[in-house]
Amino acid sequence: MPQLAARIGRAKPSAIMAVAEKAKRLKAEGRDIISFSIGVPNFLPGPHVYEAARQAVEKDSGQYGSNRGPDALLDALLLHIEKIGLTGYTRANCATGIGAKHVIYNLAEALLDEGDTIAFPVPYWTSYMDIAEIVNAKVQLLPCPASQNYKLTPQQLDEAMAKKPKVFLFNNPSNPTGMVYTKDEIIALADVLVKYPDTWIIADDIYNRMLFDGLEYYNFVLARPELRDRVIFLDSLSKTYGMPGWRLGFMVGPEQVAKALVTLNSNHITNVPEVVNAAGIAALTGPQDVPDQKRVEFQAKRDQVMDVMNAIPGVVCPRPQGAFYVFPDISVAFGKTHGPTGAKIENDVDFCNALLEAKGVACVPGSAFGEPRALRISYTCPTPQLAPGLQRFQEFFAELV
Ligand code: PLP
Repeated sequence: MPQLAARIGRAKPSAIMAVAEKAKRLKAEGRDIISFSIGVPNFLPGPHVYEAARQAVEKDSGQYGSNRGPDALLDALLLHIEKIGLTGYTRANCATGIGAKHVIYNLAEALLDEGDTIAFPVPYWTSYMDIAEIVNAKVQLLPCPASQNYKLTPQQLDEAMAKKPKVFLFNNPSNPTGMVYTKDEIIALADVLVKYPDTWIIADDIYNRMLFDGLEYYNFVLARPELRDRVIFLDSLSKTYGMPGWRLGFMVGPEQVAKALVTLNSNHITNVPEVVNAAGIAALTGPQDVPDQKRVEFQAKRDQVMDVMNAIPGVVCPRPQGAFYVFPDISVAFGKTHGPTGAKIENDVDFCNALLEAKGVACVPGSAFGEPRALRISYTCPTPQLAPGLQRFQEFFAELV
C-alpha cells in the first residue's frame, strides 16, 4: 500500500470546525444549541456587492485571470489600505489569494525552508500552527497568558528575535483574544524589530476595521517606516465585509514577496475567480456603512459578554477591544465536577464538552489556540441568542462543585 506524504500526518483538521460540527449534530438531533464557536460574521455584504458579481457573470469572457489579481482590484486594495495610513505602495507590492488563510499558506511556502523557524505569540490563531507544521518549519512560541493581557512585551520579543527566527508572525487585533495593541505598544515592539534585519514580519491585521472604544488602528510600518522592506501586511474581505465564503484575501508588502506569491498562484490556483474579484472591488469601493454599523453592534455585544465574565468568580478575562472574540481564563473550574450531570472538569476540553452537553452552548477549547487554561467565545451569533447563551454559561459555572 503506498503511503501518504509525511506532511499530511502533520496536518490536522481544524479544531474549531470539530466543535462547530458537534454543535450542528446535536442541533440536528433536536437539541437547543447556541453556538459561540465559529468566527463567522453574522451579516451579509450590501446589494452593490451582489450586483457587481451578477454583472461579472454577464461580462464573463471565460478566460483565465491575472495571477496577481486584476488592476482594478489591486487599485481598490491600495485605496483601502491608504485609509489606514499605509501609503506609497503600488500594484507590484500586492498579491491576492483565496482568503487570507491561503495567503498565509503561500507566505509560509515563500519564506520558510524546511527547518526554518517561525515565531509567534500564544494564544495564536489555530491555522498558524497547522500551516507551520505542514511546511515543516520549527515553531518558536512566545507565551502571553491572561496575566499579561495576552499581549507580547518588547522584552519577550527582544529575547525571541535574538534567536533569529526567519519569520515573526503577529496578529492584531487578535483571534482568539480580541486584544488590540495600542499605538505606544506597537511602537515599542517596532523599536525591537528594527534591530533584527534578518527576520520577515507578517502582520496579520485582518480585523483592522473591527476596533472598539474609539481605538485607532496602528501597525509596524506606521511606527517605523524603515520596517517597510520586511513587513508583509495581510487583510481579507471575510470579516470586514461579511464575505468569508467568497474567499478573497491579500497581502501588501515588499515587491519580491508579492512576486513570489504571484508565482505560487500561477502554479496553484492561477487566479482568484473573477466573480469574486468583482464582488471584492464593489465591497472595497462601495458604501462602508455595513462594517461601520457592525463595529457598533459588536462593541455592544462585547460589553454584554464582559459583564457576565466579570460576574463569574475566579474567571480572568482581559477586556478585548477588537475583532469579535472573548477569551476567558476558566482554569478556576479545573478539578471541579458539574453537579447536575456529574461531568468531571480536568481541562478546557472537558469544560467545553460538559458545557455543550449540559447547556447546549458551544465554545472552542483554548488548547486549539495554544492556551489550555482558556476558551474562546465568538459573539457573532444572532443578537437574541447572546443573552440566553451567556446565562446558560453563568449557570453552568454556578453548578460546579
Ligand atoms: N487570520 C486570522 C487571525 C483569522 O482569524 C482568520 C480567519 O478566521 C484568517 C486569518 C483567515 O481569514 P480568511 O477567511 O480571509 O481566510
